[in-house]
Amino acid sequence: MDLNALWQKTVETLAEEGIIRSDKVRRAFLKHPRYLFVEERYRAYAHVDEPLPIPAGQTVSAPHMVAIMLELTELESGMKVLEIGTGSGWNAALIAEIVKTDVYSIERIPELVEFARRNLKQAGVKNVQVFPGDGSMGFPPRAPYDRIIVTAGAPKIPEPLVEQLNPCGKLVIPVGGCHPWQDLYIVEKTVKGEVKKRRWGKVAFVPLIGEYGWRE
Ligand code: SAM
Repeated sequence: MDLNALWQKTVETLAEEGIIRSDKVRRAFLKHPRYLFVEERYRAYAHVDEPLPIPAGQTVSAPHMVAIMLELTELESGMKVLEIGTGSGWNAALIAEIVKTDVYSIERIPELVEFARRNLKQAGVKNVQVFPGDGSMGFPPRAPYDRIIVTAGAPKIPEPLVEQLNPCGKLVIPVGGCHPWQDLYIVEKTVKGEVKKRRWGKVAFVPLIGEYGWRE
């Protein structure tokens, strides 16, 4: 089977299992297959529903985890989104496909900034801007955001990320405990600026390292 046929099957399975729930997430997955965002030697495994290695000892998340986070984030066309932890650029490409407008993504490892930029260019994605830096502090130059998605595990919810949310904004972030297990939190800011948190369940992400993350 070719890579695209294998990928389509993965997307169908995630939809049948109720993990991909919306047309917009399904369409984004079909438009940007994971095999375009991994090194050549891992392409044949990109349809398997598990994390895969990317350079610098990091990982691109399993397709089901990415789908769960995108569905929880409730992205709409035109929303201003910040992603923390660009990695391969795959999740940023999916977000960009849904919101259609510019997406800002922060990555602390310079090698991965280059890797993601290359992958995004090869995939023809033009509306993702990748910046090097410590995303645990958010990204003040483009704040506030309608949505912030963090794809690394933080020891607690970083205050700057909550501050950089718009009213009615939402932050999705793995928090707490020791690596590798965290609770996935959905943090919502009401129209009056109150902050409400709820827990979705257990997840396993690489650590968020930085000022408001884990210390190196
Ligand atoms: N979203 C990525 C993708 O689609 O490939 C996967 C992200 S990987 C699970 C987590 C990433 O977060 C790693 O690339 C890691 O270097 C990055 N990271 C960790 N701490 C960070 C920080 N403070 N700021 C920005 N990126 C960070």
